[in-house]
Amino acid sequence: MLRRERALVAAAEIGRRIGPSRVLTDEELVASYAGDESEVPPVIPAAVVRAETSDDVVATLEVASQHEVPVTPRGAGTGKSGGAIPDHGGLVLATQRIARLKQIDRANRIAIVEPGMITGELHAAVEAEGLFYPPDPNSLESCALGGNVAENAGGPRAFKYGVTREYVLGLEAVLMGGQRLSVGRRTVKGVTGYDLTALFVGSEGTLAVFTELWLRLVPRPPRTATALALFSDAAAAGRAVAAIVAAGLTPSVLELLDEESLAAIRARGAVPVPARATALLLIEVDGEAELVELELERAAEACEAAGAVEVLVAQEASQRRALWAARRELSRSLKAAHLHKIAEDIVVPRTAVPEMIARTREIGRAHGLVVATYGHAGDGNLHSNFLWDDPSLSPEVERAVEELMRLAVEMGGTLSGEHGIGLQKAPFLAYEQSPQLIDLQRQVKAVFDPKGLLNPGKIFGRSGHGAC
Ligand SMILES: Cc1cc2nc3c(=O)[nH]c(=O)nc-3n(C[C@H](O)[C@H](O)[C@H](O)COP(=O)(O)OP(=O)(O)OC[C@H]3O[C@@H](n4cnc5c(N)ncnc54)[C@H](O)[C@@H]3O)c2cc1C
Repeated sequence: MLRRERALVAAAEIGRRIGPSRVLTDEELVASYAGDESEVPPVIPAAVVRAETSDDVVATLEVASQHEVPVTPRGAGTGKSGGAIPDHGGLVLATQRIARLKQIDRANRIAIVEPGMITGELHAAVEAEGLFYPPDPNSLESCALGGNVAENAGGPRAFKYGVTREYVLGLEAVLMGGQRLSVGRRTVKGVTGYDLTALFVGSEGTLAVFTELWLRLVPRPPRTATALALFSDAAAAGRAVAAIVAAGLTPSVLELLDEESLAAIRARGAVPVPARATALLLIEVDGEAELVELELERAAEACEAAGAVEVLVAQEASQRRALWAARRELSRSLKAAHLHKIAEDIVVPRTAVPEMIARTREIGRAHGLVVATYGHAGDGNLHSNFLWDDPSLSPEVERAVEELMRLAVEMGGTLSGEHGIGLQKAPFLAYEQSPQLIDLQRQVKAVFDPKGLLNPGKIFGRSGHGAC
């Protein structure tokens, strides 16, 4: 039987088990599950299962395994490396409707949530209780917590608070074949057995499908203050980041935007960015009120010493909201400014940020591409964007991306800080990791998914384990 027909037979059987309204086969409807927010071309699946309970996930993975049909887990589809794209066809398993907030436990500072819950909704719910869930990907209004865990998402606040991994105590998951698994714990400490929670976080939907997450919370900081440091070049802004850290300060946010990124923000007209600025650092400090003022002042001094032309402190909550809205929309603003865009999220040691920005610009110039760099500079995590309008430049883009990936690794960095390898960066995995290490990871995948049916093609590439 052909692969698509096999998938449709499996979809029909799943429909009989969980209810036909939860299984989509209509071509127009399934097409909306073909892509994500990466530049990877969409692939239309044979069918989509819109799971509403963990039992639906069990049934899907059991039947799909029996019929040897590939399954691609999907959250909200905001991923930027092609992780939710059903590269091998088959079924998409959407967990967006398994989205209950099951418990906020104030005394134990833990939230029990389902994977489809939107990240920003968890923020609002825990903050109303005086608690705080720090991971804040800029897509927080639209991405889901299951996707965050699968990608080990970061965000601006990662500089002070760390990434998603630091907040996942444990989870419930279902393996390909339908076996349920609880991993980790609900306590703050615990070292029983291997740390499979850490393995699952960042596994990009290739090891298991999450159905419940046990998340660690911290107290909500009483005050947050925001400043904009304006610079006349991105290298100076990069140096200021290192100076702030060297001064012993830990702002919650240290975001850098270069000239092209500022142009995109200005073009949208959302925030008045002074014309004299060609690079900007968005700095945020949180904590007790008196300390916040002091720390912001010291960060401003470090910026001035590094060459800031001006440091502006946001006076009103509305100014702060406008700034964040512009920052969070930056990726989409750049997309709107050019016909084509490819975004990478390399990481380098933070002291290498100025050099990385300059060399990325050189790479772009050599290939006739516009470059916009912005991102979580405090973590050395830069979103390097190549932008172009002439479609004939596509081969140049491929070469530019390859050079960028090699450079990041040469400079002591890594291919991806938070977007994952997915399909987009799979061809470059061997730049960073040895053949032995890649093979070992394939073997780990095979333990959880011996038939290679769960999210095949991701991380290891199309010829990797799981291709079928
Ligand atoms: C404007 C914009 C800004 C962004 N900013 C950031 C940022 O600051 N930081 C950051 O880290 N990312 C950012 N992202 C990327 C993206 O939002 C994150 O990767 C997010 O974690 C993806 O969540 P999702 O629910 O959309 O997942 P999807 O895109 O649906 O899926 C992502 C991966 O997770 C897997 N997956 C989804 N649900 C499950 C599940 N229940 N069980 C197992 N695997 C699952 C999928 O198979 C896939 O591999 C941004 C994206 C956009 C569009």
